[in-house]
Amino acid sequence: MRIKRLCVILLISIAVLICLGICYKIGSPSKEVGKDVTFEMADNWKDEFYIEEISDEVFQKMQGASYKENCTIPRESLRYVHILHCDFNNESREGELVCNEAVAQDLLEIFKELYKSGYQIEKVRLVDEYGAVDEDSMADNNSSAFNYRTISYTDIISAHGMGVAVDINPLYNPYVKEVDGRTSVEPANGAPYVDRTQDIPHKIDHDDLCYKLFVQHGFQWGGDWIDSKDYQHFEKTID
Ligand SMILES: [Zn+2]
Repeated sequence: MRIKRLCVILLISIAVLICLGICYKIGSPSKEVGKDVTFEMADNWKDEFYIEEISDEVFQKMQGASYKENCTIPRESLRYVHILHCDFNNESREGELVCNEAVAQDLLEIFKELYKSGYQIEKVRLVDEYGAVDEDSMADNNSSAFNYRTISYTDIISAHGMGVAVDINPLYNPYVKEVDGRTSVEPANGAPYVDRTQDIPHKIDHDDLCYKLFVQHGFQWGGDWIDSKDYQHFEKTID
């Protein structure tokens, strides 16, 4: 009799524990499911979107890196843009860009819209944190704008050198072109994402919000180029 009672108590205890476990799982935040987490905007997020002239501190960082000795664009024509973006874990992150003053307001508005929409951008750091080595920045999937440099395989100053171009999630949206009969992919680790018929994460195409916003602001998309395809790249022609 005593054993029977013990068995019943044991069974009830197990049932209660199972119920508690299920309740805990339902009640616990859905953070564990990663990408399905709803993006929550930071408090006072609007204060984090601002444009400044290039401070001494930022200019110091840029020296010999994105701002090279032969740079033809004056410091006064550049702007520092501070933003927030939603990272791949749906967390709010601070982002920094340097760009031409002519597109600073565009970038502020575009990144604000992307943030409000929870559009995922992994990193937005100054390219100077990668020694202004574009390949390193792209390989780390860093999104950036100004960098006084030439277009690869040419002597032509890139639109990035004028601060009027932005690269978004470059690892998943590589720059693809034919050079001496072979396909060049930048960054090199973006090779798995060259075939755009695939279902690629963070893919920029004509249905993508990022594409739509940049085009609304008068930018051209490198994915529309004929001779090469620069899926990460948006640039604006200024007077
Ligand atoms: Zn670019």
